[in-house]
Amino acid sequence: MPAVFIGHGSPMNALERNRYTEAWRALGAALPKPQAVLCISAHWLTRGLAVTAMAGPRTIHDFGGFPRELSALQYPAPGDAVLAARVAELLAPTRVAQDLSWGLDHGAWSVLVHLFPQADVPVVQLSLDANQPAGFHYALGQRLSALRDEGVLILGSGNVVHNLGRIDWSGGAYDWATRFNDWARARIERDEHAALLAWQAQGEDARLAVPTPEHYWPLLPVLGAQRAGESAQLLSDGVEMGSIGMLALRVG
Ligand code: ZN
Repeated sequence: MPAVFIGHGSPMNALERNRYTEAWRALGAALPKPQAVLCISAHWLTRGLAVTAMAGPRTIHDFGGFPRELSALQYPAPGDAVLAARVAELLAPTRVAQDLSWGLDHGAWSVLVHLFPQADVPVVQLSLDANQPAGFHYALGQRLSALRDEGVLILGSGNVVHNLGRIDWSGGAYDWATRFNDWARARIERDEHAALLAWQAQGEDARLAVPTPEHYWPLLPVLGAQRAGESAQLLSDGVEMGSIGMLALRVG
């Protein structure tokens, strides 16, 4: 099974059909049906790691100001407690809390409604650890890569460029957004993962494109799950609303 990173962008992508969501749908149709999805979303930050272990994760509407249709959307995929326990086993001795209260946040379901519209693939979410650095999140992917041989799709959901404070609904991409996105894409295509872990070295472009790390971090476990001899393949690319990077890729 490949590992996939998706730039999820606006929650409205859950309802819309555009070139990004079409790419996600095409990917879902092309993949062998996974045993389960392990999703690492920008929208679940914890202190210490947690993994969802409930049988029926709720659909979390973790946003405001969007149409009622979006707040009513349900993604009733089952959970997978066996996979949650397996994740903790693979990451030991790092402690992973078995969580029974989170569910599926919009970073997960706004993408999954297109990847697997039938909601018939079990989904488990793994949190990001707010106390840990980038290298820790990359290493998670290295340690979880074994799941790929067990039919589990590792899915990172964030955005390589993500600056909500600079969103411009009418304008084109900011120069800094395009430059940082192009830099990241070139590093991904050349397997220069060490550079991607030290993105802050890109100075002002990085400070504007990644003002906080939570949307960038989900890229890192996907790259960590890449194996020798594999290369990353782009699924889509672009910068929307001025400051949201929609780059998506798969490895394997
Ligand atoms: Zn987001």
